[in-house]
Amino acid sequence: MCGIVGYVGERAARMLVLAGLERLEYRGYDSAGISVVCDGRLEAVRAVGNLSHLRAAVDQAAPAGDGGGVAVAAPPATTGIGHTRWATHGRVTEENAHPHYDTDDRVHVVVNGIVENYLELKQALIADGAVFTSETDAEVIAHLISRQLGNGLDLVEAVRAAYLQLRGHYAFVAVAADEPALLVAARRECPLVVGRGDGEQFVASAIPAFLAQTRHVQLIENGEIVALRPDGVDFMVAATGEPVTDREIEEVDWSADVAEKGGYETFMLKEIHEQAAAVAETIADRTVRADGVDLGDMGAIDDALLSRIRRVVIVACGTSYHAGLIGRYAIETWSR
Ligand code: GLU
Repeated sequence: MCGIVGYVGERAARMLVLAGLERLEYRGYDSAGISVVCDGRLEAVRAVGNLSHLRAAVDQAAPAGDGGGVAVAAPPATTGIGHTRWATHGRVTEENAHPHYDTDDRVHVVVNGIVENYLELKQALIADGAVFTSETDAEVIAHLISRQLGNGLDLVEAVRAAYLQLRGHYAFVAVAADEPALLVAARRECPLVVGRGDGEQFVASAIPAFLAQTRHVQLIENGEIVALRPDGVDFMVAATGEPVTDREIEEVDWSADVAEKGGYETFMLKEIHEQAAAVAETIADRTVRADGVDLGDMGAIDDALLSRIRRVVIVACGTSYHAGLIGRYAIETWSR
């Protein structure tokens, strides 16, 4: 689960989004990408590896003097989204790096987390003519939103309709070519916060991404959709479509350095304290319920399957190997 940054306002989105991604770099990631809205078109640049590769790709994306593109937009594109990816579904390749887009290239999305029911959604979308260009779970979101735009919904309603079809834990931000001064974000379990500026707004996985630009922050609650426009931000409950009108704007008084570490002295301490929430997020959709264990898309483990399991093999290396060793004892204890 890695980083998201979005900007809508009057300044060059490319600079602010890249700077924001750099502030999230400590999280580690395998690839990165950025999209901006240029003259009613969406343009994406993606690269495997660290942000210097993305910066180089952005600089090459539009030859100097052509007046367009991510690199040399004039006037500069003022709406953009960016992403650092930690792959969960699909290899580490440029095609799998975010932003992802729909068949008509009308919608770009950046997504953190996991869409549990992506396979069934993907099959239905392909049957309906969608052309997929990545192996990720995330790409279904762009196609779902695009379908809803095609049904005549605006971007906010299209994101809400798509959100209601998704299962899993994720946060995403969408931008559409037809509504260039708008970002729509949605949050379920994975972190996402809004930064309020004067004539400009930010959205990111963590406050440090925009702290150099604004200290005014609004938290997005689980299950909310947020529409960001240069002059304001609207919150809504995804399930009902009801507006949320009382979300406080808080002022952050930490230094950028402290904010980056969430108030802890070191990243290691921060990560130790984040473990309970991180584990809860990871297993939120794979839980033990009254009627058994539910493995999301893999279905419930019923007694018939359980009675056939003779051996559990945990395959891992590095830190995961040690987690696997703990898992071995946990499984042996629980299963007696
Ligand atoms: N599941 C998505 C993917 O594999 C997003 C991963 C992330 O949070 O970076 O592309």
